[in-house]
Amino acid sequence: MSLLTVEIAAAGYGPATVLHEVGFEVATGGRLVVLGANGAGKTTLLRTISGLTTVDGSIRLDGTELVGLAPHRIAGAGIAHVPQGRGTFGDLTVRENLLVGGATRPGRAAAADADRWMERFPRLGERAARPAAGLSGGEQQLLAIARALMSTPRLLLLDEPSLGLAPKVTSELFSTLDELCGETGTAMLLVEQNAELALGIAETALVIESGRITVRGSAAELRDNDDVRRAYLGV
Ligand code: ATP
Repeated sequence: MSLLTVEIAAAGYGPATVLHEVGFEVATGGRLVVLGANGAGKTTLLRTISGLTTVDGSIRLDGTELVGLAPHRIAGAGIAHVPQGRGTFGDLTVRENLLVGGATRPGRAAAADADRWMERFPRLGERAARPAAGLSGGEQQLLAIARALMSTPRLLLLDEPSLGLAPKVTSELFSTLDELCGETGTAMLLVEQNAELALGIAETALVIESGRITVRGSAAELRDNDDVRRAYLGV
């Protein structure tokens, strides 16, 4: 059963069209990774799903049309977006960051959930009352993901979570992500430069070049694809 159905004829920024004929699906609880060089249009794809670009086409979440909805309505429909870079509010404390993520839920449920996150990740718990800006890069990324999951989304959009992180930290972050989405059944659409790790936690994958899908298949198929190996796996 498909959770997200994307049928984009064109999308971009006003007259500047970035994506052309981009169509794919994400299954309920599924994991799709999007690979592509810098400037290929990966961020634009996530922004398009979140209602932040000009789009001609249809994007449906469980049958509900998202095109034309305001970004907050798209978020309310069950899509949480972790943007590129540190998706945290540096001036707010760790706890406040988590509570912002759960702002649409009843206060008590959100507060209990925030406490659970901080118990589960003691590095966040120890810094509950300190500004998020003081966290390390990996901790901030973890906080950004936890904050996104605070809204109990059905689909998590992640834009290059590994950016700027050391390899060991990235690999830990990916296993945590794998674990969290597995436990909650949250579907994931992951844009990532680190193809090796991303393909390791994804089921399906596609490559975008100059705003068009050029390769698609299972994560295993892409790992075995010679062009993908040369371009994205450094083989
Ligand atoms: P990166 O990995 O570098 O973020 P990307 O694949 O995510 O690359 P996008 O950021 O989606 O690529 O950019 C795709 C194209 O859209 C680029 O040519 C870029 O210049 C253009 N673009 C991005 N943001 C805007 C904007 N706000 N207005 C106009 N053009 C934009």
